[in-house]
Amino acid sequence: MPQTSLTTFPTAPPAVTATAPPAVAAGIDVGGTTLHVALVTDSADVLITKTVPTEPTPQTSLETAAAVIADLCANQGLNITDLTGIGVGIPGLVAPDGTVRHAVNLGIGSEPYPLASTLAALTNLPVQVNNDVNVGALGLAFFYSHHTLEMTPEHYVSHINEPSGEKLADLAYVAIGTGLGVGMILNGRLRQGVIVDGEIGHIPIDPAGPQCGCGQRGCIEMYASGSAAARLWPHGKEGEHAAAALFRAASAGDPAAIAARNTFCDGIATAIRVIVLTMGVHCVVLGGGVRDIGEVLMDEVKRALERDAETSRFIESLDLISRVDLVPQGVPTGAIGAAALLLVDLTQPLPTPSAMAIRPASVGVTAMEDGSSVQDGTAVENSNAVRPTVTAHPTATAHPTQKGRCDE
Ligand SMILES: [Zn+2]
Repeated sequence: MPQTSLTTFPTAPPAVTATAPPAVAAGIDVGGTTLHVALVTDSADVLITKTVPTEPTPQTSLETAAAVIADLCANQGLNITDLTGIGVGIPGLVAPDGTVRHAVNLGIGSEPYPLASTLAALTNLPVQVNNDVNVGALGLAFFYSHHTLEMTPEHYVSHINEPSGEKLADLAYVAIGTGLGVGMILNGRLRQGVIVDGEIGHIPIDPAGPQCGCGQRGCIEMYASGSAAARLWPHGKEGEHAAAALFRAASAGDPAAIAARNTFCDGIATAIRVIVLTMGVHCVVLGGGVRDIGEVLMDEVKRALERDAETSRFIESLDLISRVDLVPQGVPTGAIGAAALLLVDLTQPLPTPSAMAIRPASVGVTAMEDGSSVQDGTAVENSNAVRPTVTAHPTATAHPTQKGRCDE
């Protein structure tokens, strides 16, 4: 059962004197079993977040989400009518009118469900809905466009310390969850295809490979995804992420696990190669469930990219390693991107950092339902209630100062 948690983020001091209150929108990131809700400003500051379990039906999940948003507004001294609107990022097929199909996380099947209009009716606010992978890419780009990330061992750790507009204008977010999907920011704008986009996981790379659920054989996501990890290494503990189990066994020296881990990372490297070869993006940012593996994942993906470069001067010249990064530690990019659906004009390029006053991202303070809170990774009251959702990434403290993967 997912824990309910409430997280507040004091906003960083504004670089210039504000003359008007910031626009604030709510973002909802629909996960496998939870709704991650955040209030986000038009400067990509996260004011407060709360994570609650999904409900048995889409209607009850949306009612819960509406109640959470009202709670968060009250906590921040806002009226819900002050919000610019509500954005939702959801794994599923989203039509331009905000109806959704095949969103199993909310119990939505092949019949179109009017998600946007239902939530709008519950809250009397504008609602925008988009695919979770697109929203993840938008959240990354929106966050990077306003913040430096070189700080805080616990919360905001990134390898992109000096983002430049030119580099971040072309960015691919690779969501490696059950499958593998890619969201892209091209020329500063979210790329949105017709019916399909970013389904790089279904590019076949081995005609003799295992049968994919899409009907093809040897798709990339048959090697580089959570479900692939479970197939390659079906020996994990109950409840453990398959890829985490695979990496743990490989780190312990199991030869079969090492071979399986290499297959898995070769698959991710192939996805990165395909993305850069086709789109030429500066930055390829890895996220999704496997992100929690952390630096070990980065190390092994880099080794796989090195293996590719060893046999091809052409691939070597692309310097793929310098382009790869992990989603920054503890930044709720899904919820930020969902809110950004209301806060940015998707027809225009995102503001570039060079045109903005870049500010440090703020250090999070976590306030729990039971009244306890934590700040800077130190429990203030109840040490048992430390950061249930934003800091489940133990590798961050071990690598707080690495820099520059995407900088070159
Ligand atoms: Zn496929």
